[in-house]
Amino acid sequence: MTTLNPIPTTLIPGDGIGPEVVKATIAVLEALGAPFKWETQLAGMAAFNACGDPMPPALIDSIRKNGLALKGPLSTPIGEGFRSANVRLRETFGLYANVRPALTIVPGRFDKIDIVLIRENLEGFYVAHEHYLPVGDDPRAVALSSGANTRVGINRIARYAFEYAVKHGRKKITIVHKANVLKVLTGLFLEEARNVAREYEGRVAVDDRIVDACAMQLVLNPWQFDMLLCSNLFGDILSDELAGLVGGLGLAPGANIGKDVAIFEAVHGTAPDIAGKGIANPISLLLASGLMLDHVGHPELATRLRTAIDLTLNQDNVKTTDLGGKATTVAFTEALVKRLKSA
Ligand code: ATP
Repeated sequence: MTTLNPIPTTLIPGDGIGPEVVKATIAVLEALGAPFKWETQLAGMAAFNACGDPMPPALIDSIRKNGLALKGPLSTPIGEGFRSANVRLRETFGLYANVRPALTIVPGRFDKIDIVLIRENLEGFYVAHEHYLPVGDDPRAVALSSGANTRVGINRIARYAFEYAVKHGRKKITIVHKANVLKVLTGLFLEEARNVAREYEGRVAVDDRIVDACAMQLVLNPWQFDMLLCSNLFGDILSDELAGLVGGLGLAPGANIGKDVAIFEAVHGTAPDIAGKGIANPISLLLASGLMLDHVGHPELATRLRTAIDLTLNQDNVKTTDLGGKATTVAFTEALVKRLKSA
């Protein structure tokens, strides 16, 4: 066996089910012979409990140095002044592109789904310009929120999506918007994304959908879609819908990509209802680590990983409870490791 060059990578166990699915993922990547050299760092609630800061400087330094991280889900301390740790990580490292592929592995209600959603990660309503206006003795009588989409930011995410389509042989991009109502905020998104689309004419087809119609069409006929290009909030919502089409949050990976840094994660959150019970499905994070292997130039390892997951689920019939099986996180991980070692 050839020894691959070690790749220093920041590892964030995270909160809730994070440490359980991260532990499973590390065991599987080791069995696969993936060359990541882990640097474990705390973030979110775990970091807040340890040192009073959900984003400690050591975490930031490690990610900046490595340019690569695998992250468990994070929770944000409750209270004034704490913004989502996930959002802050994206902002700190300029992770403007969120890539969320939805691919059927376990045929369920819908079979043969293969859609990639590209979500703008830094703008829209997530800039969080929010405040209350007092009326009479009610200090929170009116809630105000404004979003911001910039032509530069839209151009950058649209270009990323079209380049992704060219590189991965995808045929069509659907731009998602609400330009009939949010005429300025999402009208500009549609306009600038169409400008970029023109440069790819003849190579990548383009159409557009109003977000509500898109949500319905995804359930009625998901096979008409190839790639979705979404602003921040619409992308957040539709990517959970996509996860639902392919079997739930336990099967949905995500990548956050910037110019110098990439952070890979599961789409799901901390799932506090099942944390510590040993039943979490680690596949989302495993698939995210597959995206990370593609990103660092080891697609052959990513393919081996995806094939082994497929065989463990569909031939060995070992599944966690969210997929209708009986396996614990550990039992699924052991079955997957056995598959990898026998291949
Ligand atoms: P957060 O507040 O961090 O977003 P949440 O519970 O509101 O957490 P998710 O963590 O995304 O939202 O999950 C929603 C539900 O989906 C969970 O309550 C859990 O039952 C289920 N779920 C999510 N991820 C998994 C997983 N990996 N394995 C099994 N079930 C999961």
